Amino acid sequence: MLPRRVDHIGIAVNNLEEACKFWEALGLKSTGVEEVADQKVKVAFFPVGDSEIELLESTSPDGPIAKFIEKNGQGIQHFAIRVDNIDEAIAEMQDKGFRMIDKVSRYGAGGAKIAFMHPKSTGGVLLELSERV
Ligand code: ZN
Repeated sequence: MLPRRVDHIGIAVNNLEEACKFWEALGLKSTGVEEVADQKVKVAFFPVGDSEIELLESTSPDGPIAKFIEKNGQGIQHFAIRVDNIDEAIAEMQDKGFRMIDKVSRYGAGGAKIAFMHPKSTGGVLLELSERV
């Protein structure tokens, strides 16, 4: 596995529309809002150079983003590393003894294949591995 770049930084927000205003004021443009039913979120991506800012608003009080905000307030929730082959990356990290939350990749926003690693294995960071076609 050769990580290519920081793919994006995920920020949990209470209100996507409100949160977008700041990033737009900063001069960035969203690629549009997408709902990912599987993760109970709607998201907006703001490309910045080779990386992106991902804003996430929960669509359900029992979703992971709602729970995160309840516990920590709004803020950085995860970050993502781009990999060439997610299935190989998952297998490699497990072989090395690190804990994956997702042992099989799943669908992420923008058509990406993603898998989260457990913060207990990464020094306290919720790390998303992301493969994009
Ligand atoms: Zn993400």
